[in-house]
Amino acid sequence: MKIICIGRNYIDHAKELDNPVPDAPVIFMKPPSAILKSGKPFYIPDFSNDIHYEAELVVKIAKNGKYVPQSAAMDYCSEITLGIDFTARDIQKQLKTKGLPWELSKGFDQSAAFGSWLDFSKFPKDKNIEFSLKKNGEVVQKGNSKDMIFDISFLVSYISKFFKLQIGDLIYTGTPAGVGSVEEGDILEGYIFEEQLLHCEIR
Ligand code: MG
Repeated sequence: MKIICIGRNYIDHAKELDNPVPDAPVIFMKPPSAILKSGKPFYIPDFSNDIHYEAELVVKIAKNGKYVPQSAAMDYCSEITLGIDFTARDIQKQLKTKGLPWELSKGFDQSAAFGSWLDFSKFPKDKNIEFSLKKNGEVVQKGNSKDMIFDISFLVSYISKFFKLQIGDLIYTGTPAGVGSVEEGDILEGYIFEEQLLHCEIR
């Protein structure tokens, strides 16, 4: 399986990091070794002094597909959850300044956290899914899939032109504004609507 991530998919987040609003999806990947399942602690790695949370809707792929038309894209999505694209922001800034790939800042071990899965058929439309992240009990990020620059069906179709989609692949669909750093002892909790799906302690 592979983990495909979308950058800058919400205008308010692109602006908070002084990035241009993209005219095509910004895509990067994490290796399968980056997976961190809900309930497991995240250990701050020694190579970064600025690990950020990025709360994102995560979609699981249910069917193999290549050149998936947008009209059929939702048939390829079986489940959805709330995930965290952990980012070593200090390393990412250095890499971006030098024009180098982001993998070291995005694909490290435990950087792809996700919660328990919900059946995607509960959400007949992909365009009005509310989600949020709490840090130590306070809401720090709030998003809604309707605010995505590129919606889920477009992303599935677009990605499948370049990378054959395979059962079990994950798509991290981008984060809204409100990203920030984590410290040892923080508790992160992720929600879709009112349902808590993710719990992660920072160590
Ligand atoms: Mg992200």
